[in-house]
Amino acid sequence: MSIPCPRCQQPITPGATHCQSCGSSLLLEAAPGGAEPTCAVHPTLRSLAICDRCGAFACARCLRAGPRGEVVCEACLTRDPDEPLPWDQREELGTLKAVWRTAVNVMLHPDFFAKARPEGSPSSSLLFALLCALPGWFTTGLTYMGMFSLMPSLAPESQTQSASDSMAMMKWAGVGMLAFCVLLGPVISLVSTVLMAGIDHLILRMGGVTRGYAVTLRAHSMSQAPWLLGVVPFIGMQVGPLWAMVARVFAYRGLHRTTWGVALAGALLAPLLTCCLCGGGYLAIILAAIGKVGH
Ligand SMILES: [Zn+2]
Ligand SMILES: [Zn+2]
Ligand SMILES: [Zn+2]
Repeated sequence: MSIPCPRCQQPITPGATHCQSCGSSLLLEAAPGGAEPTCAVHPTLRSLAICDRCGAFACARCLRAGPRGEVVCEACLTRDPDEPLPWDQREELGTLKAVWRTAVNVMLHPDFFAKARPEGSPSSSLLFALLCALPGWFTTGLTYMGMFSLMPSLAPESQTQSASDSMAMMKWAGVGMLAFCVLLGPVISLVSTVLMAGIDHLILRMGGVTRGYAVTLRAHSMSQAPWLLGVVPFIGMQVGPLWAMVARVFAYRGLHRTTWGVALAGALLAPLLTCCLCGGGYLAIILAAIGKVGH
């Protein structure tokens, strides 16, 4: 939204005290007892626009441009500066640097979510999640390939025909595993991000969150930064998801500006329920097996 200069009607810059088109002062004294609205902070000055966040009348001295180009008053901007994530600035920083800086923030200073910009396009959020998942999938594929190609050579009689056959087979199985991880892994990551964020969003909505699914998707995607640890074989794939779950609590609380309780429920309820269901399934299978053995 642009604010017109009261004299020449050209758009003025929020925060400027003079019009850059006609040069006239924008600090206009309000006529005593006049009809025009006056600034909520400076009652002697005429209001030029209404703050997009709090709705207060603001004079030229109080007007500021918000982070998304909206017009806000100085008080609102100070209270909620609404910083862009490094990921939002990837055009200036370069994609790699933007991923790295965002990931460091998410992993080491997750409280930065509290003042971070909540909105982001779903495609940019998903791209971040994808980039965080790729190294882990690649390492997992490589690890399997290594294990498969090592296994047959550990067998003692590796000179026989059948041994070399199985060796070739294992090698191909390893290559197949790598291809699966690199080609299908990212698809699995994207689909599960969309679904999990959807379930979390329903829970957050029940907790009274008003912002849209795009905010939950952004929080979910950004909190996947610890998945980058997947480049460390075995350990990374264990630590990454747990760390991501902790980061997700901060992300939901921060981007939805909600309470710890609602954020905790949003981030942990669905994974816990899944665990219980899977655990219950395993338990049922084990019990059934024991029952069969007993008979
Ligand atoms: Zn002007
Ligand atoms: Zn305001
Ligand atoms: Zn003012």
